[in-house]
Amino acid sequence: MRAQPPASHYVDGAYVEDEAGEAFESIYPATGEAIARLHMATPALFDRALAAAKRGQAEWAAKSGAERGRILRRAAEILREKNDAISEIETLDTGKAVQETLVADAASGADCIEYFGALAADIRGSHIEFPNGFAYTRREPLGICAGIGAWNYPIQIASWKSAPALACGNAMIFKPSEVTPLTALKLAEIYTEAGVPAGVFNVLQGGGALGAMLSSHPAIDKVSVTGSVGTGAKVMGGAAETTKHVTLELGGKSPILVFADADLDAAVSGAILGNFYSTGQICSNGTRVFVERSVRQAFVEKLAERAKAIRLGDPLDPETHLGPLVSKAQYDRVLSYMELGRSQGATLACGGKAAEVAGLPNGLFVEPTIFTDVDDTMRIAREEIFGPVMCVMDFDSEDEAIRRANATDFGLAAGIYTRDLSRAHRMAARVAAGTVWVNSYNLTPVEMPFGGVKRSGIGRENGREALEHYSQVKSVYLATGPEEAPY
Ligand code: NDP
Repeated sequence: MRAQPPASHYVDGAYVEDEAGEAFESIYPATGEAIARLHMATPALFDRALAAAKRGQAEWAAKSGAERGRILRRAAEILREKNDAISEIETLDTGKAVQETLVADAASGADCIEYFGALAADIRGSHIEFPNGFAYTRREPLGICAGIGAWNYPIQIASWKSAPALACGNAMIFKPSEVTPLTALKLAEIYTEAGVPAGVFNVLQGGGALGAMLSSHPAIDKVSVTGSVGTGAKVMGGAAETTKHVTLELGGKSPILVFADADLDAAVSGAILGNFYSTGQICSNGTRVFVERSVRQAFVEKLAERAKAIRLGDPLDPETHLGPLVSKAQYDRVLSYMELGRSQGATLACGGKAAEVAGLPNGLFVEPTIFTDVDDTMRIAREEIFGPVMCVMDFDSEDEAIRRANATDFGLAAGIYTRDLSRAHRMAARVAAGTVWVNSYNLTPVEMPFGGVKRSGIGRENGREALEHYSQVKSVYLATGPEEAPY
Protein backbone atom coordinates (compact mmCIF):
# COMPACT_ATOMS: atom_id res chain seq x y z
CA MET A 1 0.00 0.00 0.00
CA ARG A 2 1.40 3.32 -1.16
CA ALA A 3 0.73 5.41 1.92
CA GLN A 4 0.42 2.88 4.73
CA PRO A 5 1.31 4.50 8.09
CA PRO A 6 3.15 2.44 10.74
CA ALA A 7 -0.16 2.06 12.64
CA SER A 8 -3.68 3.49 12.66
CA HIS A 9 -3.56 5.72 15.73
CA TYR A 10 -1.14 7.98 17.56
CA VAL A 11 -1.52 7.93 21.34
CA ASP A 12 0.79 8.99 24.15
CA GLY A 13 3.61 10.03 21.82
CA ALA A 14 3.70 6.89 19.64
CA TYR A 15 1.94 4.97 16.89
CA VAL A 16 -0.52 2.41 18.24
CA GLU A 17 -2.39 -0.37 16.49
CA ASP A 18 -5.55 -1.99 17.79
CA GLU A 19 -6.73 -4.66 15.40
CA ALA A 20 -9.87 -5.23 17.42
CA GLY A 21 -11.29 -2.07 15.79
CA GLU A 22 -13.23 -2.31 12.53
CA ALA A 23 -10.93 -2.20 9.48
CA PHE A 24 -11.29 0.43 6.77
CA GLU A 25 -9.27 1.63 3.79
CA SER A 26 -8.17 4.96 2.45
CA ILE A 27 -8.84 5.13 -1.28
CA TYR A 28 -6.99 7.22 -3.87
CA PRO A 29 -9.96 8.70 -5.75
CA ALA A 30 -8.04 9.13 -9.03
CA THR A 31 -7.63 5.36 -9.41
CA GLY A 32 -9.81 3.62 -6.83
CA GLU A 33 -6.69 2.00 -5.38
CA ALA A 34 -6.51 1.36 -1.61
CA ILE A 35 -3.49 3.31 -0.31
CA ALA A 36 -3.74 2.37 3.37
CA ARG A 37 -5.62 -0.06 5.56
CA LEU A 38 -6.48 1.09 9.07
CA HIS A 39 -8.60 0.21 12.09
CA MET A 40 -11.13 2.31 13.96
CA ALA A 41 -10.43 3.06 17.60
CA THR A 42 -11.99 0.76 20.19
CA PRO A 43 -13.46 2.07 23.48
CA ALA A 44 -10.35 0.69 25.24
CA LEU A 45 -8.06 2.79 23.05
CA PHE A 46 -10.31 5.82 23.57
CA ASP A 47 -9.82 5.43 27.33
CA ARG A 48 -6.07 5.09 26.83
CA ALA A 49 -5.99 8.29 24.80
CA LEU A 50 -7.98 10.12 27.47
CA ALA A 51 -5.59 9.01 30.21
CA ALA A 52 -2.58 10.03 28.09
CA ALA A 53 -4.13 13.39 27.29
CA LYS A 54 -4.78 14.04 30.99
CA ARG A 55 -1.16 13.34 31.92
CA GLY A 56 0.22 15.17 28.89
CA GLN A 57 -1.91 18.24 29.49
CA ALA A 58 -0.69 18.64 33.08
CA GLU A 59 2.94 18.50 31.91
CA TRP A 60 2.34 20.81 28.93
CA ALA A 61 0.38 23.45 30.87
CA ALA A 62 3.16 23.58 33.49
CA LYS A 63 5.60 24.88 30.87
CA SER A 64 5.89 28.60 30.26
CA GLY A 65 4.10 30.01 27.25
CA ALA A 66 7.51 30.91 25.81
CA GLU A 67 8.63 27.28 26.00
CA ARG A 68 5.41 26.00 24.43
CA GLY A 69 5.82 28.59 21.70
CA ARG A 70 9.39 27.54 20.99
CA ILE A 71 8.33 23.91 20.58
CA LEU A 72 5.42 24.84 18.32
CA ARG A 73 7.65 26.98 16.12
CA ARG A 74 10.05 24.03 15.83
CA ALA A 75 7.08 21.87 14.75
CA ALA A 76 6.21 24.45 12.08
CA GLU A 77 9.76 24.27 10.72
CA ILE A 78 9.71 20.46 10.58
CA LEU A 79 6.33 20.52 8.86
CA ARG A 80 7.76 22.87 6.22
CA GLU A 81 10.78 20.61 5.71
CA LYS A 82 8.46 17.65 5.13
CA ASN A 83 6.05 19.58 2.92
CA ASP A 84 6.76 17.65 -0.29
CA ALA A 85 6.28 14.20 1.23
CA ILE A 86 3.17 15.24 3.18
CA SER A 87 1.67 16.96 0.12
CA GLU A 88 1.96 13.72 -1.82
CA ILE A 89 0.15 11.80 0.92
CA GLU A 90 -2.51 14.53 1.05
CA THR A 91 -2.99 14.24 -2.72
CA LEU A 92 -3.31 10.45 -2.52
CA ASP A 93 -5.75 10.71 0.41
CA THR A 94 -7.97 13.49 -1.01
CA GLY A 95 -7.38 13.42 -4.78
CA LYS A 96 -6.58 17.15 -4.76
CA ALA A 97 -4.01 18.19 -7.35
CA VAL A 98 -0.43 18.27 -6.05
CA GLN A 99 -0.19 21.75 -7.59
CA GLU A 100 -2.52 22.76 -4.72
CA THR A 101 -1.43 20.52 -1.90
CA LEU A 102 2.20 21.68 -2.26
CA VAL A 103 1.22 25.28 -1.47
CA ALA A 104 -2.09 25.21 0.39
CA ASP A 105 -2.31 22.29 2.82
CA ALA A 106 0.69 21.46 5.03
CA ALA A 107 2.08 24.89 4.12
CA SER A 108 -0.91 26.69 5.63
CA GLY A 109 -0.76 24.32 8.60
CA ALA A 110 2.85 25.35 9.19
CA ASP A 111 1.92 29.04 8.99
CA CYS A 112 -0.76 28.46 11.59
CA ILE A 113 1.47 26.54 14.01
CA GLU A 114 4.17 29.19 13.64
CA TYR A 115 1.66 31.99 14.28
CA PHE A 116 0.22 30.46 17.45
CA GLY A 117 3.75 29.51 18.51
CA ALA A 118 4.60 33.20 18.31
CA LEU A 119 1.54 34.16 20.40
CA ALA A 120 1.96 31.49 23.09
CA ALA A 121 4.26 33.61 25.27
CA ASP A 122 1.79 36.49 25.22
CA ILE A 123 -1.37 34.77 26.44
CA ARG A 124 -2.37 36.87 29.40
CA GLY A 125 -5.18 38.23 31.52
CA SER A 126 -6.02 41.79 32.55
CA HIS A 127 -5.91 44.03 35.61
CA ILE A 128 -8.96 45.95 36.96
CA GLU A 129 -8.69 48.61 39.72
CA PHE A 130 -11.28 49.32 42.48
CA PRO A 131 -11.15 51.81 45.40
CA ASN A 132 -10.60 49.05 47.98
CA GLY A 133 -9.08 46.35 45.88
CA PHE A 134 -8.26 45.13 42.46
CA ALA A 135 -8.99 42.17 40.28
CA TYR A 136 -6.93 40.40 37.75
CA THR A 137 -7.88 37.76 35.27
CA ARG A 138 -5.98 34.63 34.41
CA ARG A 139 -6.37 33.04 31.01
CA GLU A 140 -6.22 29.30 31.70
CA PRO A 141 -6.35 26.27 29.42
CA LEU A 142 -9.62 24.35 29.13
CA GLY A 143 -8.04 20.90 29.59
CA ILE A 144 -8.62 18.19 27.02
CA CYS A 145 -9.99 19.38 23.68
CA ALA A 146 -11.39 17.20 20.92
CA GLY A 147 -10.88 18.10 17.27
CA ILE A 148 -13.05 16.52 14.57
CA GLY A 149 -12.01 17.13 10.97
CA ALA A 150 -13.68 17.19 7.57
CA TRP A 151 -12.04 15.49 4.56
CA ASN A 152 -11.35 18.49 2.34
CA TYR A 153 -8.31 20.02 4.13
CA PRO A 154 -7.13 17.26 6.47
CA ILE A 155 -3.77 18.55 7.71
CA GLN A 156 -4.82 22.17 7.56
CA ILE A 157 -7.85 21.45 9.76
CA ALA A 158 -5.72 19.39 12.19
CA SER A 159 -3.30 22.33 12.40
CA TRP A 160 -5.95 25.05 12.69
CA LYS A 161 -7.43 23.21 15.66
CA SER A 162 -4.32 21.91 17.41
CA ALA A 163 -2.11 25.02 17.13
CA PRO A 164 -4.26 27.41 19.21
CA ALA A 165 -5.28 24.55 21.53
CA LEU A 166 -1.66 23.66 22.27
CA ALA A 167 -0.52 27.30 22.47
CA CYS A 168 -3.03 27.76 25.32
CA GLY A 169 -1.74 24.70 27.21
CA ASN A 170 -4.45 22.17 26.31
CA ALA A 171 -4.12 18.59 25.12
CA MET A 172 -6.03 17.41 22.05
CA ILE A 173 -7.53 14.19 20.78
CA PHE A 174 -8.03 14.62 17.05
CA LYS A 175 -10.29 12.52 14.87
CA PRO A 176 -9.71 12.95 11.15
CA SER A 177 -12.49 12.08 8.73
CA GLU A 178 -12.39 8.36 8.01
CA VAL A 179 -12.24 9.37 4.33
CA THR A 180 -8.84 11.09 4.81
CA PRO A 181 -7.16 9.57 7.86
CA LEU A 182 -3.47 9.90 6.98
CA THR A 183 -1.87 13.31 7.38
CA ALA A 184 -3.06 14.02 10.95
CA LEU A 185 -0.77 11.10 11.89
CA LYS A 186 2.17 12.88 10.22
CA LEU A 187 1.36 16.00 12.24
CA ALA A 188 1.37 13.95 15.45
CA GLU A 189 4.82 12.55 14.54
CA ILE A 190 6.10 16.07 13.92
CA TYR A 191 4.80 17.41 17.24
CA THR A 192 6.65 14.60 19.02
CA GLU A 193 9.84 15.27 17.05
CA ALA A 194 9.59 18.97 17.95
CA GLY A 195 9.35 18.21 21.67
CA VAL A 196 5.63 18.26 22.44
CA PRO A 197 5.26 15.88 25.42
CA ALA A 198 3.60 12.49 24.96
CA GLY A 199 -0.19 12.59 25.24
CA VAL A 200 -0.58 16.25 24.28
CA PHE A 201 -1.66 15.55 20.69
CA ASN A 202 -3.31 12.21 19.97
CA VAL A 203 -4.96 10.94 16.80
CA LEU A 204 -7.74 8.37 16.93
CA GLN A 205 -9.32 6.95 13.78
CA GLY A 206 -13.04 6.41 13.58
CA GLY A 207 -16.32 7.50 12.05
CA GLY A 208 -19.38 9.31 13.36
CA ALA A 209 -19.63 7.09 16.43
CA LEU A 210 -16.17 8.16 17.63
CA GLY A 211 -17.07 11.78 16.83
CA ALA A 212 -20.17 11.42 18.98
CA MET A 213 -18.11 9.95 21.86
CA LEU A 214 -15.66 12.83 21.66
CA SER A 215 -18.53 15.31 21.66
CA SER A 216 -20.31 13.95 24.71
CA HIS A 217 -17.62 12.42 26.94
CA PRO A 218 -17.52 14.15 30.35
CA ALA A 219 -13.69 14.11 30.53
CA ILE A 220 -13.43 16.26 27.38
CA ASP A 221 -13.72 19.99 27.97
CA LYS A 222 -14.16 21.30 24.45
CA VAL A 223 -15.01 20.03 21.01
CA SER A 224 -14.25 21.77 17.74
CA VAL A 225 -15.69 20.27 14.57
CA THR A 226 -15.33 21.15 10.91
CA GLY A 227 -18.11 19.56 8.94
CA SER A 228 -21.64 19.91 7.66
CA VAL A 229 -24.41 21.80 9.43
CA GLY A 230 -26.15 18.54 10.35
CA THR A 231 -23.03 17.13 11.99
CA GLY A 232 -22.41 20.44 13.78
CA ALA A 233 -25.89 20.27 15.33
CA LYS A 234 -25.23 16.70 16.52
CA VAL A 235 -21.89 17.69 18.03
CA MET A 236 -23.49 20.63 19.82
CA GLY A 237 -26.24 18.33 21.11
CA GLY A 238 -23.64 15.89 22.45
CA ALA A 239 -21.62 18.71 24.00
CA ALA A 240 -24.73 20.09 25.70
CA GLU A 241 -24.92 17.02 27.96
CA THR A 242 -21.76 18.13 29.74
CA THR A 243 -21.92 21.86 28.83
CA LYS A 244 -18.70 21.74 26.85
CA HIS A 245 -17.24 24.60 24.90
CA VAL A 246 -17.88 24.21 21.17
CA THR A 247 -16.45 25.62 17.98
CA LEU A 248 -18.46 24.77 14.89
CA GLU A 249 -16.95 25.39 11.43
CA LEU A 250 -19.77 24.35 9.15
CA GLY A 251 -21.00 24.59 5.60
CA GLY A 252 -22.01 27.47 3.40
CA LYS A 253 -23.74 28.67 0.24
CA SER A 254 -21.86 31.92 -0.01
CA PRO A 255 -22.68 34.77 -2.40
CA ILE A 256 -20.30 36.69 -4.66
CA LEU A 257 -21.75 40.05 -5.74
CA VAL A 258 -20.31 41.43 -8.98
CA PHE A 259 -21.26 45.05 -9.67
CA ALA A 260 -21.14 46.59 -13.15
CA ASP A 261 -18.22 48.85 -12.19
CA ALA A 262 -16.02 45.89 -11.12
CA ASP A 263 -12.83 44.75 -12.81
CA LEU A 264 -14.62 41.92 -14.61
CA ASP A 265 -11.49 39.85 -15.17
CA ALA A 266 -10.70 39.96 -11.45
CA ALA A 267 -14.30 39.01 -10.65
CA VAL A 268 -14.13 36.09 -13.09
CA SER A 269 -10.90 34.92 -11.41
CA GLY A 270 -12.57 35.16 -8.00
CA ALA A 271 -15.59 33.18 -9.17
CA ILE A 272 -13.40 30.53 -10.83
CA LEU A 273 -11.12 30.04 -7.84
CA GLY A 274 -14.03 30.42 -5.42
CA ASN A 275 -15.89 27.55 -7.08
CA PHE A 276 -13.38 25.18 -8.63
CA TYR A 277 -10.27 25.19 -6.42
CA SER A 278 -9.99 21.84 -4.60
CA THR A 279 -12.52 20.56 -7.13
CA GLY A 280 -15.10 22.77 -5.47
CA GLN A 281 -14.78 21.08 -2.09
CA ILE A 282 -14.32 24.23 0.01
CA CYS A 283 -16.75 25.35 2.70
CA SER A 284 -16.46 29.07 1.92
CA ASN A 285 -16.92 28.77 -1.85
CA GLY A 286 -18.96 31.52 -3.49
CA THR A 287 -21.39 29.20 -5.19
CA ARG A 288 -24.08 31.83 -5.78
CA VAL A 289 -22.60 34.42 -8.13
CA PHE A 290 -24.91 37.45 -8.45
CA VAL A 291 -23.92 39.64 -11.42
CA GLU A 292 -25.38 43.08 -12.17
CA ARG A 293 -27.57 42.66 -15.22
CA SER A 294 -25.71 45.05 -17.56
CA VAL A 295 -22.47 43.02 -17.34
CA ARG A 296 -23.95 39.56 -16.95
CA GLN A 297 -23.53 38.51 -20.57
CA ALA A 298 -19.89 39.60 -20.75
CA PHE A 299 -19.19 37.99 -17.38
CA VAL A 300 -20.67 34.61 -18.33
CA GLU A 301 -18.78 34.54 -21.64
CA LYS A 302 -15.43 35.18 -19.92
CA LEU A 303 -16.29 32.68 -17.21
CA ALA A 304 -17.17 29.84 -19.59
CA GLU A 305 -14.05 30.47 -21.67
CA ARG A 306 -11.82 30.31 -18.57
CA ALA A 307 -13.63 27.26 -17.16
CA LYS A 308 -13.15 25.34 -20.40
CA ALA A 309 -9.38 25.85 -20.10
CA ILE A 310 -9.21 24.12 -16.69
CA ARG A 311 -7.03 21.00 -16.93
CA LEU A 312 -8.44 17.90 -15.27
CA GLY A 313 -5.97 15.09 -14.89
CA ASP A 314 -3.67 12.97 -12.80
CA PRO A 315 -3.49 14.77 -9.44
CA LEU A 316 0.19 13.85 -9.09
CA ASP A 317 1.02 15.65 -12.37
CA PRO A 318 2.13 19.21 -11.46
CA GLU A 319 0.38 20.53 -14.58
CA THR A 320 -3.05 19.31 -13.42
CA HIS A 321 -5.46 21.95 -12.10
CA LEU A 322 -8.34 19.76 -10.91
CA GLY A 323 -8.29 16.28 -9.49
CA PRO A 324 -11.27 14.00 -8.83
CA LEU A 325 -13.84 14.37 -6.07
CA VAL A 326 -12.84 12.78 -2.78
CA SER A 327 -15.10 9.72 -2.68
CA LYS A 328 -17.73 7.80 -4.61
CA ALA A 329 -20.42 9.12 -2.25
CA GLN A 330 -19.39 12.71 -2.99
CA TYR A 331 -19.16 11.96 -6.74
CA ASP A 332 -22.69 10.57 -6.81
CA ARG A 333 -23.97 13.51 -4.79
CA VAL A 334 -22.38 16.14 -7.07
CA LEU A 335 -23.61 14.39 -10.25
CA SER A 336 -27.12 14.23 -8.78
CA TYR A 337 -27.06 18.01 -8.23
CA MET A 338 -25.90 18.54 -11.84
CA GLU A 339 -28.88 16.48 -12.98
CA LEU A 340 -31.19 18.38 -10.63
CA GLY A 341 -30.03 21.74 -12.04
CA ARG A 342 -30.87 20.58 -15.55
CA SER A 343 -34.23 19.07 -14.59
CA GLN A 344 -35.26 22.19 -12.64
CA GLY A 345 -34.65 24.34 -15.75
CA ALA A 346 -31.26 26.03 -15.24
CA THR A 347 -29.10 26.57 -18.36
CA LEU A 348 -25.69 24.94 -18.61
CA ALA A 349 -22.97 27.38 -19.66
CA CYS A 350 -20.38 24.61 -19.41
CA GLY A 351 -19.76 21.20 -17.84
CA GLY A 352 -22.62 19.31 -16.26
CA LYS A 353 -21.48 15.71 -16.25
CA ALA A 354 -18.84 13.17 -15.29
CA ALA A 355 -15.45 13.73 -16.95
CA GLU A 356 -13.19 11.19 -18.62
CA VAL A 357 -9.48 11.46 -17.90
CA ALA A 358 -7.11 9.47 -20.10
CA GLY A 359 -5.35 6.67 -18.24
CA LEU A 360 -7.57 7.02 -15.14
CA PRO A 361 -10.76 5.16 -16.04
CA ASN A 362 -11.80 4.67 -12.41
CA GLY A 363 -11.18 8.30 -11.37
CA LEU A 364 -14.06 10.19 -9.76
CA PHE A 365 -13.76 13.18 -12.10
CA VAL A 366 -16.54 15.65 -12.91
CA GLU A 367 -16.55 18.64 -15.23
CA PRO A 368 -16.32 22.15 -13.80
CA THR A 369 -19.92 23.26 -14.18
CA ILE A 370 -21.61 26.65 -14.55
CA PHE A 371 -25.39 27.04 -14.47
CA THR A 372 -27.04 30.28 -15.58
CA ASP A 373 -30.74 31.24 -15.51
CA VAL A 374 -30.79 29.95 -11.97
CA ASP A 375 -33.80 30.79 -9.85
CA ASP A 376 -33.14 31.43 -6.11
CA THR A 377 -35.66 28.74 -5.20
CA MET A 378 -33.89 25.94 -7.09
CA ARG A 379 -32.16 23.37 -4.90
CA ILE A 380 -28.83 23.98 -6.66
CA ALA A 381 -29.09 27.60 -5.47
CA ARG A 382 -30.08 26.76 -1.90
CA GLU A 383 -28.18 23.62 -0.86
CA GLU A 384 -24.47 23.12 -0.34
CA ILE A 385 -23.24 20.85 -3.16
CA PHE A 386 -19.52 20.73 -2.24
CA GLY A 387 -18.32 20.16 -5.78
CA PRO A 388 -17.38 22.30 -8.80
CA VAL A 389 -20.87 23.64 -9.51
CA MET A 390 -21.41 27.39 -9.83
CA CYS A 391 -24.79 29.14 -10.09
CA VAL A 392 -24.92 32.54 -11.84
CA MET A 393 -27.84 34.87 -11.20
CA ASP A 394 -28.41 38.53 -12.15
CA PHE A 395 -29.62 41.54 -10.16
CA ASP A 396 -30.56 45.19 -10.71
CA SER A 397 -29.90 47.03 -7.43
CA GLU A 398 -27.85 46.90 -4.23
CA ASP A 399 -30.96 46.30 -2.14
CA GLU A 400 -32.04 43.40 -4.29
CA ALA A 401 -28.54 41.89 -4.28
CA ILE A 402 -28.28 42.04 -0.48
CA ARG A 403 -31.79 40.73 0.11
CA ARG A 404 -31.16 37.72 -2.11
CA ALA A 405 -27.59 37.15 -0.90
CA ASN A 406 -28.84 37.02 2.71
CA ALA A 407 -31.87 34.81 1.96
CA THR A 408 -30.16 31.64 3.21
CA ASP A 409 -29.66 29.91 6.54
CA PHE A 410 -25.90 29.81 5.87
CA GLY A 411 -23.55 32.72 6.57
CA LEU A 412 -19.96 31.62 6.15
CA ALA A 413 -18.51 34.06 3.62
CA ALA A 414 -19.23 36.58 0.87
CA GLY A 415 -17.41 38.33 -1.95
CA ILE A 416 -17.97 41.84 -3.32
CA TYR A 417 -16.48 43.02 -6.60
CA THR A 418 -16.73 46.78 -7.20
CA ARG A 419 -14.44 49.76 -7.76
CA ASP A 420 -16.72 51.95 -5.60
CA LEU A 421 -15.09 52.11 -2.17
CA SER A 422 -18.20 53.36 -0.34
CA ARG A 423 -20.35 50.65 -1.85
CA ALA A 424 -17.79 47.99 -0.89
CA HIS A 425 -17.94 48.98 2.79
CA ARG A 426 -21.74 49.44 2.69
CA MET A 427 -22.19 45.94 1.27
CA ALA A 428 -19.60 44.42 3.64
CA ALA A 429 -21.61 45.75 6.59
CA ARG A 430 -24.96 44.53 5.23
CA VAL A 431 -24.05 41.03 4.08
CA ALA A 432 -24.62 38.29 6.70
CA ALA A 433 -21.30 36.43 6.68
CA GLY A 434 -18.38 35.63 8.97
CA THR A 435 -15.83 36.72 6.34
CA VAL A 436 -16.23 39.22 3.51
CA TRP A 437 -13.68 39.54 0.71
CA VAL A 438 -13.62 42.70 -1.37
CA ASN A 439 -12.13 42.33 -4.87
CA SER A 440 -10.66 38.94 -3.89
CA TYR A 441 -12.01 35.60 -2.75
CA ASN A 442 -11.18 32.70 -0.42
CA LEU A 443 -7.97 34.12 1.05
CA THR A 444 -7.60 32.85 4.62
CA PRO A 445 -4.33 34.14 6.11
CA VAL A 446 -3.91 32.72 9.60
CA GLU A 447 -3.82 36.19 11.17
CA MET A 448 -7.46 36.75 10.14
CA PRO A 449 -10.27 35.16 12.18
CA PHE A 450 -12.39 32.71 10.19
CA GLY A 451 -15.81 31.29 10.96
CA GLY A 452 -19.49 31.56 10.22
CA VAL A 453 -22.66 33.31 11.29
CA LYS A 454 -26.18 31.87 11.29
CA ARG A 455 -26.08 28.10 10.71
CA SER A 456 -22.55 28.18 9.30
CA GLY A 457 -21.06 28.03 12.74
CA ILE A 458 -20.12 29.27 16.17
CA GLY A 459 -16.73 30.53 17.28
CA ARG A 460 -13.70 31.51 15.23
CA GLU A 461 -10.55 29.78 14.10
CA ASN A 462 -7.30 31.65 13.42
CA GLY A 463 -6.39 35.16 14.54
CA ARG A 464 -6.07 36.10 18.20
CA GLU A 465 -9.80 35.31 18.54
CA ALA A 466 -9.01 31.58 18.38
CA LEU A 467 -7.08 31.83 21.65
CA GLU A 468 -10.28 32.91 23.39
CA HIS A 469 -11.97 29.75 22.19
CA TYR A 470 -9.26 27.49 23.63
CA SER A 471 -8.91 29.14 27.04
CA GLN A 472 -11.08 30.34 29.88
CA VAL A 473 -10.92 33.39 32.08
CA LYS A 474 -10.63 33.19 35.84
CA SER A 475 -11.24 36.39 37.80
CA VAL A 476 -9.27 36.89 41.02
CA TYR A 477 -10.43 39.67 43.35
CA LEU A 478 -8.09 40.97 46.03
CA ALA A 479 -9.09 43.40 48.76
CA THR A 480 -6.57 46.14 49.62
CA GLY A 481 -8.78 47.96 52.14
CA PRO A 482 -11.52 47.17 54.67
CA GLU A 483 -14.73 45.68 53.30
CA GLU A 484 -17.96 47.05 54.85
CA ALA A 485 -20.53 44.49 56.04
CA PRO A 486 -24.15 45.75 56.20
CA TYR A 487 -25.05 43.48 59.17
P1 NDP B 1 -19.33 15.71 7.83
O1 NDP B 1 -20.24 16.61 8.55
O2 NDP B 1 -19.89 14.52 7.16
O3 NDP B 1 -18.17 15.15 8.78
C1 NDP B 1 -17.32 16.02 9.50
C2 NDP B 1 -16.63 15.22 10.59
O4 NDP B 1 -17.57 14.87 11.60
C3 NDP B 1 -16.02 13.90 10.11
O5 NDP B 1 -14.84 13.64 10.84
C4 NDP B 1 -17.11 12.92 10.46
O6 NDP B 1 -16.63 11.60 10.59
C5 NDP B 1 -17.57 13.47 11.79
N1 NDP B 1 -18.90 13.04 12.21
C6 NDP B 1 -19.87 12.45 11.47
N2 NDP B 1 -20.97 12.24 12.24
C7 NDP B 1 -20.68 12.70 13.48
C8 NDP B 1 -21.39 12.75 14.72
N3 NDP B 1 -22.64 12.31 14.83
N4 NDP B 1 -20.78 13.31 15.79
C9 NDP B 1 -19.53 13.81 15.69
N5 NDP B 1 -18.79 13.76 14.56
C10 NDP B 1 -19.36 13.21 13.46
O7 NDP B 1 -18.55 16.66 6.80
P2 NDP B 1 -17.61 16.24 5.63
O8 NDP B 1 -16.42 15.53 6.15
O9 NDP B 1 -18.45 15.61 4.58
O10 NDP B 1 -17.08 17.66 5.12
C11 NDP B 1 -17.84 18.48 4.31
C12 NDP B 1 -18.57 19.52 5.15
O11 NDP B 1 -17.65 20.22 5.97
C13 NDP B 1 -19.23 20.58 4.28
O12 NDP B 1 -20.50 20.88 4.79
C14 NDP B 1 -18.31 21.77 4.44
O13 NDP B 1 -18.91 23.00 4.20
C15 NDP B 1 -17.85 21.63 5.84
N6 NDP B 1 -16.60 22.34 6.03
C16 NDP B 1 -16.60 23.51 6.77
C17 NDP B 1 -15.44 24.26 6.90
C18 NDP B 1 -15.40 25.49 7.74
O14 NDP B 1 -14.31 25.88 8.15
N7 NDP B 1 -16.51 26.16 8.01
C19 NDP B 1 -14.21 23.86 6.23
C20 NDP B 1 -14.30 22.60 5.53
C21 NDP B 1 -15.48 21.89 5.42
P3 NDP B 1 -16.51 10.66 9.30
O15 NDP B 1 -16.10 11.48 8.12
O16 NDP B 1 -15.45 9.71 9.69
O17 NDP B 1 -17.86 10.08 9.11
